[in-house]
Amino acid sequence: THFGYEQVPAGEKQSRVAGVFSSVARRYDLMNDLMSMGIHRLWKRFAVDLAGVRPGETVLDVAGGTGDLTKAFRRAAGPQGQVILSDINAAMLGEGRRRLIDAGVSGVPLVQANAECLPFADASFDCITIGFGLRNVTDKDAALRSMRRCLKPGGRLLVLEFSKPVIEPLSRAYDQYSFKVLPLLGRYVAQDEASYRYLAESIRMHPDQATLKDMMEGAGLERVQVYNLTGGIVAVHRGFRL
Ligand code: SAM
Repeated sequence: THFGYEQVPAGEKQSRVAGVFSSVARRYDLMNDLMSMGIHRLWKRFAVDLAGVRPGETVLDVAGGTGDLTKAFRRAAGPQGQVILSDINAAMLGEGRRRLIDAGVSGVPLVQANAECLPFADASFDCITIGFGLRNVTDKDAALRSMRRCLKPGGRLLVLEFSKPVIEPLSRAYDQYSFKVLPLLGRYVAQDEASYRYLAESIRMHPDQATLKDMMEGAGLERVQVYNLTGGIVAVHRGFRL
């Protein structure tokens, strides 16, 4: 294809992260619904609306996993558009392929790729998204630069990610939830307590709204705006390559 993609071997640290996701891929959707009480669907819908994909556009869903965002973009891009689902983890992509087929969505290339060094030509996409994925990337600055490089001038990057609650009582309740309830859900539903402890820790460690905005600007993205969802539990950052 004109994107010239190829498979990228994952580094050692990436393999470890990839391993965590292999072990949770199966019960992934159920856990998402339980953990967020179904609200993750609304967060994703918000990001999709903000992306504003129009018919004929080319879209890349980085760390796309089971393909929730991809599905919505595929509809928006229409038959003339192109939407690619990419992820570092082959098991997640396999699950994504299965979900897309189940949903009757066809014509979505799957590309195994590390967000840090995307195997696409410069200026290939009108829109790139990374949903609940940047948190797991080792070198986030490299990933942001790589995604910017692959955007066409005028294209936009959307980062949907857990962030920092902006209201103090919510912040305390959320900490309790992350470090007490999440590992229990992990133990009893996914039979994998360690992965969900890792999830809680990775959320706590992730850069807050202002820091991520700075990082995006540092990677050369412009007009970066932040949208807090559910009191800042999640934020969408949108920036443009101009
Ligand atoms: N975007 C999907 C969603 O919102 O449902 C999936 C999110 S899932 C929590 C995170 C995904 O990031 C996993 O599928 C994992 O394999 C992927 N991932 C982790 N590190 C990555 C990297 N360096 N490059 C690309 N994908 C990565």
